[in-house]
Amino acid sequence: MIVENSSRFFNDHVSSNSIVNAAAGFVKAQNEKYHFTGKIIEKIGYPYWKDALVLKMPVQNKSGRGGSGNVQDSAEVVYIPFVRDSQRLVNSTLRITMGSTDTTFKFLQDWQYEDTATTGMEGKDLAIVLMTLHNRVFGDTLFQMTDSTIIERNDGKTVKYVSLNTGIAPIDGSPTPGLLIAYEYTMTICYSQWVPLHNGQLTGCAPGANCPFYYQHTWCESVSWTEYEDDGMGSGGGGTGGSGGGGTGGGGWTPPNCGGPTGGRVAHRGNEPCTPGGGGGGWIPIPDDDPPVENPCDGGITALQNDAYFKANFAYLKQPAITAYPYETGLMVTNRTGNLYSSQQGNASEPEISWSILGGVKIDGLLHSHYSGLNNIFSPQDILFMAEIYLGGFARDSTNLFFGLTSHNGLPYLIKVSNTTEYRKFALKIVQMQLNKKGFTRDYNYKLSSGDDEKQEKEFLKMLRDLGASEGLSLFRASQDGTGSVNFGKWNKLSIDNSDAVIIKPCN
Ligand SMILES: [Zn+2]
Repeated sequence: MIVENSSRFFNDHVSSNSIVNAAAGFVKAQNEKYHFTGKIIEKIGYPYWKDALVLKMPVQNKSGRGGSGNVQDSAEVVYIPFVRDSQRLVNSTLRITMGSTDTTFKFLQDWQYEDTATTGMEGKDLAIVLMTLHNRVFGDTLFQMTDSTIIERNDGKTVKYVSLNTGIAPIDGSPTPGLLIAYEYTMTICYSQWVPLHNGQLTGCAPGANCPFYYQHTWCESVSWTEYEDDGMGSGGGGTGGSGGGGTGGGGWTPPNCGGPTGGRVAHRGNEPCTPGGGGGGWIPIPDDDPPVENPCDGGITALQNDAYFKANFAYLKQPAITAYPYETGLMVTNRTGNLYSSQQGNASEPEISWSILGGVKIDGLLHSHYSGLNNIFSPQDILFMAEIYLGGFARDSTNLFFGLTSHNGLPYLIKVSNTTEYRKFALKIVQMQLNKKGFTRDYNYKLSSGDDEKQEKEFLKMLRDLGASEGLSLFRASQDGTGSVNFGKWNKLSIDNSDAVIIKPCN
C-alpha cells in the first residue's frame, strides 16, 4: 500500500518544468533515505507538481556562507501544493529552496496561521500563498474568509472575501541586507456591510437581510505589501533543515501536527490528518464554475469608471463650494478620451444652464450640478435636453451619450443611453409631449414635487418605465466608500420592477 502511494506521490500530476523536477528529484532522494511519503499523504495528501509555483529569488549571501557577505546569489524557490483526495482544497505547501550551495525545505499548512515563529511568515501571507496555489490547481480566484483574524485591517473592517489578482511575485531589485527573500503580495480584498439605501436616513429597523431599507454592499480595494522572509539557508551544512515541528519521520520530513486534538484516541492525538474544523482552513474557495455574476452595466459605464480624468472632473462638481452656489455649474465633455472638457455656468437662481454648442461640435456628454434647494435627481429640462442632443445628432457616440448630475446633499447620478433604438423612441415621445402644451415637464414636475429624494429617484425610474424607456436609458447612482465619501469610479445601476420596488445592482 505504502509503495503504491509512494508511486502516486511522484508519478501523478507530474510537471514538465525542469526546476520543479529538480525539486521532485531532491524529495525522491530524501525519501529513499527516510521513507516519509506515507506520513505526508496521511496528513496533507498528494503533491500537485504540475501546479507548483516557481520563483527565482535574489539572495543575499550571509557572511560565513560560501564567500564574503553582500555577494548576491539567486535561489530557485518551488512551492508545491498538496491536496487530500477527500477535498477540493490546497491545504498545505512544501517549499523547496534550491540555492547554488544547498537545498532546504519547509512545510507550510493551513493550520499554522498563528504559528508565525514556525512558519516565518505572517498568517495573511501564508493564506495568500495557499490561495495562490489553490488557484493554480483548481482555478478559483475568489475566496471567502471563514476566519476573520487571518487578514485584519487596522480600520476595524472585517475582510469577508479575498480576490486574487496578480498573486505572489518576487520583488524586483536588490534584497535588503540581512534579509534573504522578499515577496510582494497583491490582491483585492473585499469587505461587506449592511448599508442604508439612502445615506444617513433613519429607517426604523436594524441592519440585516430582513430589513428592506438596507442592502448588503461590498467594497473592494486592491492592496499589496512586501514581506521579507529568511529562506532558512546558510544554517550550516547542506541538505535538510528548517521544517519546524514534526521531526518524527526522519530528516524533518513529517509535516507539523495540527494544533488541537482531532480525535478521541489520546494515543493518536495530534497525529490525525487535519481536516477543516479540526485544524485550520480559514478560507473556502468560491468555485469559478458557479454562475458568473453578470455585469448589469455596459462597457460605456466601465469606461467611465476607469477614466481618472472623468472621475476628477465629476468630483469637482460635487464640491460643497460648487453645489452651494445659487447657480448651476456644468462641464461639457466634448471629447472624453481626449480629456477635453469646457465649463459653463447657469444664471443665478435659474435651475438650468443655457448650453451653447458651437456649430458642428459634437459631445460625449454633459456633467452639471444642482445647487442647494434644487432636486437631487435630473430635471425634466435635463432629460429633454439630452433627447434634443441625441435627436439633433450632437452625440459623438450615440450609443454611449451620458448626462451626469451632482447635488448639494444627494449621491451623484448618471444617465446613459443603453439601447439606441429604444432611446430614440423615448426621445421622440417626450419631445412630442413637450410640444403638446409642455406635457413632459408638466407631468414629470408633478411627480417630482414631493421633495423626498428616495421618492424622486423612484419617480424617475417609474417615468422611464411608464414611457417604455427602461431599456433605452439607464440610471446609475454613485456608491460611497467605507468612510462615506463618494466613489465616482463605482456606480450602481438602478431599475424598478412592476411592483415599484427599486433594484440596485453594482456595476462590475
Ligand atoms: Zn439639471
